[in-house]
Amino acid sequence: MGSSFDDETPHLNMAQHWHETFDQIFVDFNPDKWKLEPTNVPMPQGWRTFKDSAKVKFVCDCGNSWTSMNGRVIFWFNKIGDKPELKQEKDQGDSGDSEAGTSRRENESVYSLRFRLYGQKCKISEGCDNEEFQNPKWYREEVEKVLNNVHKKIGEVFYGFPKPVMDENRRRGRPRRPHDSSRCQACQEGQCSSNRRR
Ligand SMILES: [Zn+2]
Ligand SMILES: [Zn+2]
Repeated sequence: MGSSFDDETPHLNMAQHWHETFDQIFVDFNPDKWKLEPTNVPMPQGWRTFKDSAKVKFVCDCGNSWTSMNGRVIFWFNKIGDKPELKQEKDQGDSGDSEAGTSRRENESVYSLRFRLYGQKCKISEGCDNEEFQNPKWYREEVEKVLNNVHKKIGEVFYGFPKPVMDENRRRGRPRRPHDSSRCQACQEGQCSSNRRR
């Protein structure tokens, strides 16, 4: 809808695409309120996690660019509060078991879905001495895939959806060299191995 994004290249307007896609997918958990929050800090204990992988692209300031089939995202999700917008009904002795409204709930809860994207370093072997982790650029379809997957996972965990079948497809790619763990942020933090289904 009026988008000028080019599907062939990882676009720059990542935040908007993550949030718009998230809003579209997670609206069906209404009246619960879900918030998507990028993070760069370790999560506290007690949050559920979900890892996924995607093909991503990196561009270094030196001009090198490369793609990786090991683009890593980790999601954490948890209930962070209750939104006290109860419509007080007259008798409250009824312990909340209303059969009248099909899926109406009296408590809407607030949940957070946090996510972190992991970077990679450029290659010394290609003449670059930049030791910073470069931020990944995500393809639109990969953003949609991982958000759909984590939505299914959350549906299973919090909403009683049946055990989901995850989309494990990745955008097509022909890695020219094996994954370089020494330059992968997720590997360095022990988060890269493909143990999505642990
Ligand atoms: Zn570089
Ligand atoms: Zn790795």
